[in-house]
Amino acid sequence: MTQLERQQWDVVVIGAGGAGLRAAVEARERGARTAVICKSLFGKAHTVMAEGGIAASMGNVNAGDNWQVHFRDTMRGGKFLNQWRMAELHAQEAPARVWELETWGALFDRTADGRISQRNFGGHEYPRLAHVGDRTGLELIRTLQQKIVSLQQEDEAATGDYESRLKIFQECTVTRILKDGDRVAGVFCYARESGRFFVIEAPSVVLATGGIGKSFKVTSNSWEYTGDGHALALLAGAPLLNMEFIQFHPTGMVWPPSVKGILVTESVRGDGGVLRNSEGKRFMFDYIPEVFKEKYAKSEDEADRWYDDPDHNRRPPELLPRDEVARAINAEVKAGRGSPAGGVFLDVSTRMPAEVIRRRLPSMYHQFKELADVDITAEPMEVGPTCHYVMGGVAVDSDTAAAVGVPGLFAAGEVAGGMHGSNRLGGNSLSDLLVFGRRAGLHAARYSRESDPLPTVDESRIDAAAAEALRPFGASGAPDGGPPENPYTLHQELQQTMNDLVGIIRREGEMKQALEQLARLADRAGRVGVEGHRQFNPGWHLALDLRNMLLVSECIARAALERTESRGGHTREDRPAMEQEWRRINLHCRLTGSADTDGAADTTADTATRTDTGTAAGRIGLQRRTTDPIRPDLLALFEKEELVKYLTEEELHE
Ligand code: FAD
Repeated sequence: MTQLERQQWDVVVIGAGGAGLRAAVEARERGARTAVICKSLFGKAHTVMAEGGIAASMGNVNAGDNWQVHFRDTMRGGKFLNQWRMAELHAQEAPARVWELETWGALFDRTADGRISQRNFGGHEYPRLAHVGDRTGLELIRTLQQKIVSLQQEDEAATGDYESRLKIFQECTVTRILKDGDRVAGVFCYARESGRFFVIEAPSVVLATGGIGKSFKVTSNSWEYTGDGHALALLAGAPLLNMEFIQFHPTGMVWPPSVKGILVTESVRGDGGVLRNSEGKRFMFDYIPEVFKEKYAKSEDEADRWYDDPDHNRRPPELLPRDEVARAINAEVKAGRGSPAGGVFLDVSTRMPAEVIRRRLPSMYHQFKELADVDITAEPMEVGPTCHYVMGGVAVDSDTAAAVGVPGLFAAGEVAGGMHGSNRLGGNSLSDLLVFGRRAGLHAARYSRESDPLPTVDESRIDAAAAEALRPFGASGAPDGGPPENPYTLHQELQQTMNDLVGIIRREGEMKQALEQLARLADRAGRVGVEGHRQFNPGWHLALDLRNMLLVSECIARAALERTESRGGHTREDRPAMEQEWRRINLHCRLTGSADTDGAADTTADTATRTDTGTAAGRIGLQRRTTDPIRPDLLALFEKEELVKYLTEEELHE
């Protein structure tokens, strides 16, 4: 029997980014004793990197904005594959969540008459992003941290202990959701510094672990984005929804190589920056797709007038949704019109005075000056697509954020699927975190309160989770007597595979090849070995993260192969059209066969299940699920001519 510390809480939140902290605040305010666990230091979650802003239809800069317009933009951006109820709740509740942040101490930039300022972003009809320069995520996290500390001070006054009702376990990693029968019973974790194992028992667990970008070679994502929450949900028996949809942000740095992928915020374009190819041409006018033709300017003059007079001119095509801009840049580079480092040029230097650039885009100014020795007030930036965001994620109930099929499990933020359909609009993540973080905390607290009897954690499951975590220390190596596999080598090979074969433009043959390579990598990951001991050992941490990245990557490749169309963040060269028949189809990924679901068996050994697509052996099976029809009053928000582009005859008739 594994000797370790066990604690009992009402709600466990995994993740201390925007979604996790907002969930924790809500759960604690609803009376649940709440524990938050995060891999990094408190306050260092990926959300701090968010730059451009929070989308909410407050109408401060253009009074024409309201939740219905925001809903429409979100559905259009997602190419109508969004869980429409999530998009509705999100659009309705986002303004209240931003106001609430202000009452908790957030200091947003202001309009001339003192209201919260809002900026333009791709795909949003009106200026909608509440922001703090280009450091909005930092302010969001700072405010939520401050709120948490104030709740802890209240608890100290009431109980004499700051951590009696709300405690943060920082630099700790969860490797397993533990279950009692079907329902959640707690989590198995290790402290990164000491390697010490511990268990937190709780009837409700909220996944708020963010994204998956570290499975790709070029990414804007931080080291934490190894798809842990996605994999934890799969292993606990919950399905992942539409994992084929990955957002490649159009503008990441392309030079120098050491910083390739780091984000160049969309605010640069929102504030007037333009994209040019090596011939100096503003090429985005050549890439306005049919479905957006009515909404975007036809000439540079009209586009430039829009910044000052948006009511009488159409938007510049640089502000098309991200998937469109990323594909356009990719096409320009492929056609030989790219920049020296293999991107295109993004220019603000000829569009705004230097002092305005430094004030509105301070992080970008410093980022380029320090990392690339480029002064963006005097010369253009070189940019290209970078893996940025995963639209796919845990399949959840739209209202409660409860994971499908696993009582007690909830998911919010980037780890949850459905809200953004096939493509997310910029700014809609920070609002998503707040809206659904709050909902997840609310319903997790309620579920926990109503749990009677409380679930219990079986010792054998703890032993299995401990054995799984320790396996890399005793790895036996290859059957031919070769040494154990190196986790860093496997990670590099995985990233290269995903970048080259399941990247921004996909082809059937390459995805099949990717699945074969992933099966081989999963097999080798079963023999991954590390040296040293459990005290802060990054090689060991990576060895454990590999399980998650491999599972998630297989989901992405399998779903991408299955969806025989192009839509949003899934572009197939061999199936370039968006097919109406596919609009209502969601792909659910689940572990197959005897695959382990809650920590009692060995998952790395389970590579034997074949799918019928003629591809390599794998652990993931796919199910097609049809979405509910969009409610008629929501459909009525669109012109019929627009709906015809997305919906089938049958749906229109219904
Ligand atoms: P995160 O903030 O990433 O938090 C995840 C948490 O989970 C972390 O605390 C991590 O330590 C923890 N965690 C993960 N795995 C485990 C585990 N196994 N055990 C314990 N803890 C774990 N969106 C916008 O809307 N507007 C923007 O302007 C914007 N700008 C962006 C700029 C950049 C550079 C990037 C990369 C993204 C940007 N995004 C933006 C997207 C947005 O920032 C993210 O989608 C969002 O912050 C995700 O928040 P989250 O709460 O879901 O996860």
